[in-house]
Amino acid sequence: MISGYFLQELLALEERIGNVSTGLSEETILRSMVEMVYHSNQIQEEGQCAICLEEYKDTEKLGTLNCGHDFHVGCISQWLQMKNVCPICKDSASSNTSKEQ
Ligand SMILES: [Zn+2]
Ligand SMILES: [Zn+2]
Repeated sequence: MISGYFLQELLALEERIGNVSTGLSEETILRSMVEMVYHSNQIQEEGQCAICLEEYKDTEKLGTLNCGHDFHVGCISQWLQMKNVCPICKDSASSNTSKEQ
């Protein structure tokens, strides 16, 4: 469930500036991250999704980008459909950026 204020702001902004297609297709997004399931008893440090600002909960699905930053899969998928950058470090999520679609 995505209810992040930040994400909603971004979506609203995107609507205002129009459809600038710098995002990725769903297929490319799935190829540019590593999916994992969060278990607090396996991971020492507490994690937080930088997009919705919620802490990770057990059994939530996370996606880790090439740069090593992780987010909820749902959150980062929506983000990357708009922008091909990591929300934290601004690295390209997908190296072979194609602007054809
Ligand atoms: Zn999130
Ligand atoms: Zn990053």
